[in-house]
Amino acid sequence: MHEKRTLSDLTFFKIVQEILSHYSWPRTCPAICCKIADINLDENDLNTLGEIPKDKIESFIEDGERHYKMSPPCPFLESDKCTVYDRRPTMCRLFPFNITTMPDALLLFPCDMGGSIFEDYVEYSNNILKRPVPTETTGAFKQSHSSFDIKLNEDLPIPMLL
Ligand code: SF4
Repeated sequence: MHEKRTLSDLTFFKIVQEILSHYSWPRTCPAICCKIADINLDENDLNTLGEIPKDKIESFIEDGERHYKMSPPCPFLESDKCTVYDRRPTMCRLFPFNITTMPDALLLFPCDMGGSIFEDYVEYSNNILKRPVPTETTGAFKQSHSSFDIKLNEDLPIPMLL
């Protein structure tokens, strides 16, 4: 029988958890993504989160399977803090990484936390692995990061720069 796999079953999820265990959350994080992004949920997330306001949840079918998403702003965000942090959805546990539906694709948001992770990765790849990260890649990330910062400071809606 086909066993249903969730995001947290993927090797990517475990790798991301390992990476994130080395970083602490910036206290200045204004939780922009909790305010502007759809949060995809699997059935485990739904069961763990408990009651979600009906107007905030939508279900849809993709690849023949039922999925769910919460619309922004997240109903569990209060004064820029997550009120369900210990039982937050899998997607939130991955942030600032995002696993796409494309196979083998792991994206990194260009927020401050994503920026620190990216800088450490570049240093590790250049100096330890001796596999220099192409300058186009570092340039594109820096550009996304500064655009993310500028929009934050101007208090404008931020598009997902992925
Ligand atoms: S559950 Fe928490 S971390 Fe996830 S979007 Fe809502 S407030 Fe943010």
